[in-house]
Parts: sequence; C-alpha cells; structure tokens
Amino acid sequence: MDLSSPIDDLPKVGPIFATKFKKLGIHTVNDLFYHVPSHYLDYSLITTVNKVRVGDTVTIHAKIVSITNIFSKRGVRMQIGSVEDETGKLTVVWFNQPFLTRMLYPGKLVSLSGKVGFFNKKVCLTSPDYEILESEETETVHTGKLVPVYPETAGLSSKWIRTKIKDAFEHIEIEDFLTDKLDLKTAIKYVHLPNNLEEVEKGKERLAFNEMLFLQLKSLRKKAAWQKNKTPFKLSLNSSTVQQFISSIPFKLTDSQKKSTDEILEDMQKEVPMNRLLQGDVGSGKTVVAAIGAFAAFTNGYQTMIMAPTQILAEQHYKTLKKLLEPFKIRISLLTSDVKKIEIGTTDIFVGTHSLIHSKINFEKVALVVIDEQHRFGVEQRSLLTKKSGIPHVLTMTATPIPRTIALTTYGDLELSVLNELPNGRQKITTWAVPAAKRDGAYDWIKKQIKENKSQAFIVCPLIEDSDKETMKDIKSVTTEFANLSKIFSNLKLGLLHGRMKPTEKNKILDDFRNKKIDILVSTPVVEVGIDIPNATIMVIEAAERFGLAQLHQLRGRVGRGEKKSYCLLFANVHSGNAFKRLKAMEKMHSGFELAELDLELRGPGEIFGTQQSGFAELKIASWSDYELIKETKTLAESILKTPKKYPKLSSLLHETPVLS
Ligand code: ADP
Ligand code: MG
Repeated sequence: MDLSSPIDDLPKVGPIFATKFKKLGIHTVNDLFYHVPSHYLDYSLITTVNKVRVGDTVTIHAKIVSITNIFSKRGVRMQIGSVEDETGKLTVVWFNQPFLTRMLYPGKLVSLSGKVGFFNKKVCLTSPDYEILESEETETVHTGKLVPVYPETAGLSSKWIRTKIKDAFEHIEIEDFLTDKLDLKTAIKYVHLPNNLEEVEKGKERLAFNEMLFLQLKSLRKKAAWQKNKTPFKLSLNSSTVQQFISSIPFKLTDSQKKSTDEILEDMQKEVPMNRLLQGDVGSGKTVVAAIGAFAAFTNGYQTMIMAPTQILAEQHYKTLKKLLEPFKIRISLLTSDVKKIEIGTTDIFVGTHSLIHSKINFEKVALVVIDEQHRFGVEQRSLLTKKSGIPHVLTMTATPIPRTIALTTYGDLELSVLNELPNGRQKITTWAVPAAKRDGAYDWIKKQIKENKSQAFIVCPLIEDSDKETMKDIKSVTTEFANLSKIFSNLKLGLLHGRMKPTEKNKILDDFRNKKIDILVSTPVVEVGIDIPNATIMVIEAAERFGLAQLHQLRGRVGRGEKKSYCLLFANVHSGNAFKRLKAMEKMHSGFELAELDLELRGPGEIFGTQQSGFAELKIASWSDYELIKETKTLAESILKTPKKYPKLSSLLHETPVLS
C-alpha cells in the first residue's frame, strides 16, 4: 500500500465506510493522513489507583472487578463498575453506554483514561475512555498517551478513525522525495501518533509543506500545459495606430492602465496564446483596457468576444464600447438571451452574456476572448477555447482583489496584470456601520441628502439563503422590503430591481434610475457587479454582516463614481464580535486588497471568492498567511519541474495528480 492507494484498500474498510470517508473528502490513504486532528487529549499521565487525585486526568491499567447497569435517581442510565490494580480498588462510572457491560466484564484487563471526580461521595473515574489490553504489554491507542481527536462525521468516530490511521500507518510504504526536511513518514507519525505536542508541530510543518508544494506543482503544470499551445492569432501591431485609439479616449490612462495595456498587447503578439488575469478594484477602469485589446485585434482583421456575467453588464459594456470604438468604424453587436438577431459576418466585437457560448457565431476569427468579473473561466467557457480554429488570447477580468499569497499559488498558472490605483479625482466613500438604534435617523438623513443634494441611493437587501442565485424567497423578501421602504420614503420615487425580472423590465428600471426618474433603487445584490451610475452617491446595505468584505467593497464601489461626495451605510444586526469588527474595518479601509487580506484572515478564502467559481480547496494544514512557506514551495516546485530527474521518487506522484493535491 502506498499514499495513492484508495481508502478501501485498508483492512476492514468496506464500501459503507468508504462512502462515509468520501463525505469527508477522503479518497486515498494520503487524504486520510491529511485529515488532521482538531486537538489532542493529554492522557499521558499513567498512574496507579492509590495515587489518583480528584481533578486530575489520569490513565490507569486495572482489572474489571464488577460492572452493572443501573438507573440513577433522575432516571439516567448508568454503568457503574469497580476496577482493581495491585494498589487498590477504584469506582468507575459511565453514562448511557449499556453495551459496556458486555465488553468490559470481570477479569478483563483495561486501560482507562479520564478525569477523577466523585460519585456518591466516593472518588471515581468519570466516563473514562477505555480500551481492552490483551496483556500488560499491549500498546494503547486511545488511552495512556497524547490521543488525537478528529473532526468527525456521522458514523465515523474519532476512535474509529484513530484505529484506521494506525492501521494505514503500519501498512504503508513511503519513499520520501525530499532529503532536507523531516522525513514524511515520521511527520505522519508525529501528527497522528505523537509522544508530545512538539512532535505534532514538527509533523504539521512538514505536511503543510507538502500540501503547499503540491498546490504549486499543480498550477505550474497547468501553466506549462497552456504554454504548449500555439495560437493562430499572433498579432502584428503598429504602435502608432493603437496610440491613435488611445489618444481618442476621453481621459488619460492611469499608469497602471498603461502598464496593463502594454502587457496585454505584448502577449497578443506572441505565438503562445495569452492567459492573463486583469485584476483591479471596482472603478479602476478595466473596461477601457479590454477595449484597447479589442481594438488591437481589429487592426489585424480579427474579432473579439466580450463575455459579461449578467445581461445588465453586457448592455453597459455594449454602450461603453460603442462610444469608444464606433468612431473607428468598428462594428459592435450585443448578444444576450433576448437579442439574437446579429449580423455575425459584419461584426467586429461581440458583447454578451454566456449565451455567447451557445450562439451560432463562427469562432474562426475570434482572436481575443474577454471574460469580465470572473476569477477564472469555468468549464463552460473553456469550451470556447478548444475550437477548431485554434486557441484565442484570453483576458479574464476581476474586481476581486486576490491576496498576494493566493495569487502565487492558486492563480500561479495565470499571468497577472494589476490596476492598483483609481483614476484621478475619485473621493473616499465615507462609510458607517449603523446599529439598529440609529436606523430611523439614517433614513431621515437619506431623505435630506436626496432632497438637498439631488442625489440618488441604492438600498441592497441580502439573499436569504446561502446561494449564488436568487430564490423565490429572496424575491419575496426584497419585495416586502420595497413595500416597507415605499412607506418610509413616501415622498420619493422608488424602484425595485431583482434577478427574476424580465430583462426589458430591468433595463427600464435602470434607465429610469440613470435618468433620475427614480430616487432610490431597492435591489438584491444583482447590482453588485459593474453598474456605473455616477449620480448615485448613497449605498445602503441591509444585514451587512452577512456579506463578505470583498463583496461589501464591490457594492460600495457602485457609488463614488462621480464628482459628488458619496456615502455607504452598513445596516447591521450585530453589535459586537468578529462580524461587527469586519464592518468597522469597512469604515477605515478603502482598498480592496487590504480588505481581502483581512477577510482571508477572518473568514478564509471561500468567503472572498464565493463557493462556486473559486475552484480551490480550503487548506487543511498550511495557512494562506504563511508567505514564507508559499515562497519556498514555489521555488522548489519550479526547480522540480525544471529538473524532474533530480526527484525520481516524486515523479510517480506527479503523474497521479490527485495525490496530495
Ligand atoms: P471597473 O474596473 O470597475 O470595470 P470601469 O471600467 O467600469 O471600472 O470604469 C469605471 C469608470 O471610470 C468609467 O466611467 C470609466 O469611463 C472611468 N475611467 C476609466 N479609466 C479612467 C481614467 N483613466 N480616468 C478617468 N476615468 C476613467
Ligand atoms: Mg467592470
């Protein structure tokens, strides 16, 4: 048996237990070793009956003298026993474990670990963990030492897992591939069968190293695989033509927009197709960078496809690009599930939602695919890239700030461009976490702002269930809130926007909002991505504690896009603890990167990236804040891939990707 052996190769693990293991994400023996204890019980104080002291946690080896089931005065079922060693007798009690009388009958030698207390005024061992000893020499697993406690699932007790891990450890052969680290087999022993906590720490350090190393290898191998591709869309660019377009843009590019543009244009002139992630805070101006890429493709007679996550955004991009590019006789078509009539042959830029994938567009001339507001393209989008005509250049854009450590691992296969500044003249958005008691005052303030400053406001209600999609419940709740707010703001005009509305209705509402016919737009978080309405200066977020910081920051980014001073009000149902701390952080922090780092610390990566598209596993042992570890493993992974022959024992693991991944 080796690390890659399936879990049901273990003795006495049949299909039923294998299924239970799979629920914990454990498929191989290796996975089992990465199921690390949540904590350890210190049962290492082994003593004799005459020396037990009330309050101590002890282990004794003794023979069962008697054991019976009784009912206590309150009707609780108890097992009360007496055990004996060469120094005396001791009472032992358990609760609600009637089967014990069948296992621990008189004469059996047992090892008992637990706390010493009182029962009926007599000193006794209360609910100790137990195991039967064949002889005094039997090695204990569950008592008499530092005993690991595992995260459990229904039907898999810590005790059972402990036994299986010990079995696996005794049967496994591990050839370590590194020589300058704590030996892998020893590390596994230290984590699961430790003598002391120092061993646990050392063992975990090595397992964390492996965990991170294999993540690095995975993304570097992905990158290497991509770089084997050749694109038929190698552009040849005339810099003055591109410059002419850039000069026509009604504002000056920021330095980071310039740098990102250069990186993109350089990629597109290469034989290897581009695979680049453009990340930039909300409002940092990603769209125009994409437009320059599209322009470049156009100058070589190629088409571009721009895919937005929602119809609303697709339409916004369509309008923006038309304004920028039509003066150059570039033809742009919008394709959503609604609009299907486009003239494919006479289009240079297709803008749409994912329905682009299923359209009849012949992709033969699409040299650039831009995927907006995604971290990674999904399986569906991938099909776009494996087409007959060859792989196009791919630019993915996201406003989710990716913490440095994650960029170096999970995103290590992508080239990164970063827009790390906002265009000049943007103001900080004053942010308040508003407790329930101040809600009425806040509403009055909003009324005044709208009247006196002719501003507009968003009020965003959270989704009720943890899901990326709106359910009927969500629609009902936002509709109820809309009715409520209509009473509170009876002198103002309110609009309602949610994902289940027809696209034409949505557009009408958004147009009305843009044209100031609506003062307050009440919506679900569908407004989150990309909407650009400069006159809206107030963002109110209901139940703000339910959102991740990155998401709050995105929502906040819907305002502060014009000249006027903007505000963000976070209504909270909590007033203390971590959740409130996060909201207070929103008052002080205005950089998406800082907030993402904080969220990573407080809530873990799943919260930053959402559950669906992140595509990365939560780390089991290593930590995302361990920058040193990430750097070290990255360097090693690079040298492994460069000279795999130096690591012969690893090469078998590399072909079996699931191992340690
Ligand atoms: P995001 O990065 O969030 O997608 P957008 O591309 O929607 O941002 O840009 C936000 C707004 O900023 C748009 O109105 C856009 O025209 C404007 N903008 C972009 N770049 C600049 C710049 N360099 N100077 C001034 N305004 C800019
Ligand atoms: Mg955008």
